[in-house]
Amino acid sequence: MTKILIIYTGGTIGMVNDPLTKSLIPFDFGQIQQNVPELARLNYDLEVHSFDPILDSSNMDPTAWVELARIIENRYEDFDGFVILHGSDTMAFTASALSFMLENLSKPVVLTGSQLPIGEIRTDAKENLITALEIAATRKHHAAMVPEVCIYFDYRLFRGNRSIKYNSEKFEAFQSPNYPILAEAGVYLSFFKNYIQHQPKEPFKVHYQLDPNIGVLKLYPGISKNAVDAITESAVAAIVLETFGSGNTTTAEWFTESLQGAINRGKIIVDISQCQGGSVQLGKYETSKRLEEMGVLSGYDMTFEATIAKLMFLLGKGMSREEIVSCMERSLRGEMSV
Ligand code: ASP
Repeated sequence: MTKILIIYTGGTIGMVNDPLTKSLIPFDFGQIQQNVPELARLNYDLEVHSFDPILDSSNMDPTAWVELARIIENRYEDFDGFVILHGSDTMAFTASALSFMLENLSKPVVLTGSQLPIGEIRTDAKENLITALEIAATRKHHAAMVPEVCIYFDYRLFRGNRSIKYNSEKFEAFQSPNYPILAEAGVYLSFFKNYIQHQPKEPFKVHYQLDPNIGVLKLYPGISKNAVDAITESAVAAIVLETFGSGNTTTAEWFTESLQGAINRGKIIVDISQCQGGSVQLGKYETSKRLEEMGVLSGYDMTFEATIAKLMFLLGKGMSREEIVSCMERSLRGEMSV
């Protein structure tokens, strides 16, 4: 019988209304099981591991990601697949982080959650949970169909490190603007094999060191020198520069000098676009040529979430600038198109 480990971290899926505060608060897994009697009808051997305490995903952090990675490593041989129940708010960050931490995955790690609690009549939780389990259980020629970290939400399966939460109210909460979906659930579960990672040739390996010492500088017309210097002169090791269009910034002298100073002091600066679709192309316009010359790195078409996770992963390894530059220029886990 197919064996799947459900790791329950929290999120709306298991929340209930607190009668005192009238706010949604996380509840234990029993709440979920009670509302999905269909789980017993699935022909899988399910085991549940609950986080303690259960988290609203706004409280997710690298410590929780390490815990998730450890659970998966410890139980890797015991299960055919893993389903992580997680709040949707930071699900794309967790999926991105896990994609870097879990190298050479040969089994599915499917994150899912819901926009309405499982106890609500119109809930989207049941479909998301049941199909996520089916995806985690799907095998072809004795190997997992989707050996990667992915997000299943509202009938679509996304590569985890390509996805973003783009809507806080629609059931269709996620998108993957720069990479095709991996599968779609209709009457049949259709997998798009050309876009799914291949089974790895090397053994499974887990990386636990993450360094979150990262600053973010989101540009807007009229941004002040004070606001820019506050980041470039801070003690962060890397800066994610959120730029216009295909990677463009103001060409004001004070701005380029501020970035150059940060690079001279050893900081890594990665340029990603504020546009959700498309890629950074340094040097395409004069307004990004100077960035390229001074050593700002291109984040190509990476999501903000994947850029943060990749930097945490690379900084955590204590890599030199040259090593980080080389890793930023190529895709490590299918997180960017280069
Ligand atoms: N605030 C919730 C969370 O991220 C929202 C959700 O689950 O959709 O935990």
